[in-house]
Amino acid sequence: MKEIILVKYGEIILKGGNRPVFERVLIKNIRNALKEFSDIKITIAQATIYIDTPEENIDDVCDRLSRVFGIVSISRAGVCEKSIESIKKAAVEYLSNKLKAGMSFKVEAKRSDKRFELNSIQIAQQVGGAIHEGIEGVIVDVHNPQVLVRAEVRDDAAYVYSTLDKINGRGGMPTGTGGIATLLLSGGIDSPVAGYMIAKRGVELNAVNFFSFPYTSDRAKEKVVELARILSGYLTKINLYVVPFTEIQLEIRDKCPEEHMTLIMRRFMMKISEIVAKKTKSAALITGESVGQVASQTLAALNVTNSVCEIPVLRPLVGMDKDEIIERARDIGTFETSILPYEDCCTVFTPKHPTTNPKLEIIERSEAALDVDGLIEKAVEGIEIIEVYPDMEDNND
Ligand code: ATP
Ligand code: MG
Repeated sequence: MKEIILVKYGEIILKGGNRPVFERVLIKNIRNALKEFSDIKITIAQATIYIDTPEENIDDVCDRLSRVFGIVSISRAGVCEKSIESIKKAAVEYLSNKLKAGMSFKVEAKRSDKRFELNSIQIAQQVGGAIHEGIEGVIVDVHNPQVLVRAEVRDDAAYVYSTLDKINGRGGMPTGTGGIATLLLSGGIDSPVAGYMIAKRGVELNAVNFFSFPYTSDRAKEKVVELARILSGYLTKINLYVVPFTEIQLEIRDKCPEEHMTLIMRRFMMKISEIVAKKTKSAALITGESVGQVASQTLAALNVTNSVCEIPVLRPLVGMDKDEIIERARDIGTFETSILPYEDCCTVFTPKHPTTNPKLEIIERSEAALDVDGLIEKAVEGIEIIEVYPDMEDNND
């Protein structure tokens, strides 16, 4: 039987006049995500996107769609003619290898073609009866079924599908509907998750990484590129700005009190990231900070680093525990890369006793020993831009 992919998207966001804009962007993103596949036909009707692709690509196309933001669910469906007899036959055929003896089910029907010979309740009853008769040992349960079977009579054809062939989408808003933000991407567990969470709301990402050659190795940089690559799978592309950070760190180490080192370093990171953000039309910075996680993430410390920025700093992990962040990292596929052992620029220059309750004026006074503007200018001049795509070669073997 011919199969087609049905894509459903969130409904709350469909309310009001924004719906066509949202749909157009989502379709464009789907086309973009599927551009490696030939023979794709995409149509949209009644809040469902229909994707027609040759049988052999269906699994891969579904997998790719499962990373497109804005999609709530993806179902494979059998397609048949619009008559109750063919819908019944199709339902039995389509479910015969999937719905097993002992499983309970219920049929829900919908008809958008109001001229169809039966109404939805009648369709559901007849299709349910046919399945019950046609597949041995299955049980009808209208209250709490294991499997929900849907029969839909649309304008062009009828479709039969079930929760057995449904995969969850990522939800969120279509990429491009929420502007651009710049992610401070380290090699750690937190920042990729933070980037993902904001990207999920429809925001495109740039990433900035501070790199301390030769204190950190090329493997450490490759790890960050790999994290950006995994994130780009949800977005199609990320520009990664790699900032040479060694000179700044050495200057801070030589000229500032050791216990202020981390905070001053973080203030440089924020300022440089803001410059990248402005160049790339980003409206916000994103970090993986979480209250209390380390000394530089106490409320007082966050205040000291935040005060150098004019644009908003988004910290989507702010109230999350490490366990929760790790769970997310596993879910989005970055965890295994994040825990590779290559050192980060901060781990090389970590003071033994960082201040946890810093005062802004005191940190500013320590920082005054440095040529802040000159150092920033030089670092920005040395930025390397790496364009990162999902199908780029894996960097970590
Ligand atoms: P991560 O949060 O990614 O696990 P971390 O736990 O070591 O890193 P910090 O070093 O305190 O946390 O950094 C807090 C945030 O600052 C990170 O989440 C990230 O957004 C940013 N950051 C830290 N180091 C770098 C770096 N080398 N390049 C870019 N951003 C960084
Ligand atoms: Mg962290």
